[in-house]
Amino acid sequence: MRRLRCVWLCALGVLSVGQAAPPAVADDWPPTVVTHLATDHPWVALTFDACEAGERVRLDQGITAFLLAHQIPFTVFMGGRFARDNQDAVRELAKSPLVSIQNHSWSHPRDMRLLSDEAVRIEVSRAQTLLTEMTGKPPSMFRFPGGHADQRTVDLVRGMGLEVVHWRWPEGDPDPRIEAEALVSQTLERTRAGDILIFHINGRGWHTLEALPRLIEGLSARGFEWVLLDPTRF
Ligand SMILES: [Zn+2]
Repeated sequence: MRRLRCVWLCALGVLSVGQAAPPAVADDWPPTVVTHLATDHPWVALTFDACEAGERVRLDQGITAFLLAHQIPFTVFMGGRFARDNQDAVRELAKSPLVSIQNHSWSHPRDMRLLSDEAVRIEVSRAQTLLTEMTGKPPSMFRFPGGHADQRTVDLVRGMGLEVVHWRWPEGDPDPRIEAEALVSQTLERTRAGDILIFHINGRGWHTLEALPRLIEGLSARGFEWVLLDPTRF
């Protein structure tokens, strides 16, 4: 019953998009989806999703302030609606050379595999237009909401000139039951050279800010270096 209610409410965009369904895993995707950097260097890319479907959400400025203060570069996959509703904060964030803002669809559909070709293109191009105007830099990368993508949708997005960038394993930080301690320990245990870490920066990364200082300190102490996502590294 609880699951049915979630499916229904999530379809209406009533519940947080992050709670709608578990994120997809690398086995689900065609090989053209980037899941890690092509490198033996101990590079790690810190990425966040800024998702907004129905309910208006805010940029987590606790996270941005912490990372900027510690000179940690990070990439944000941002929805068009999210950018529209956080204009001042996003324009300010985009000025930093430590930050890259990339495309995460316009309205964060639960599953873009269910959309027509034309609807997929509109989701991508509408966000692309606004993000380009707001940041001054056209995004070169796209991340599917929830990671739900197949050969057709990936080919459509790549045909628009965007690399599709996901992750090797999800942190799961939209689940409030995953405490900061678990986020830190699973990250220190699982991270390998070239990994793309994914968290949420829309207020739905419940314990993310609490985990970040120990997580960053721990990986840095193990010799990992933080890099911005860049298609030359794929
Ligand atoms: Zn998302």
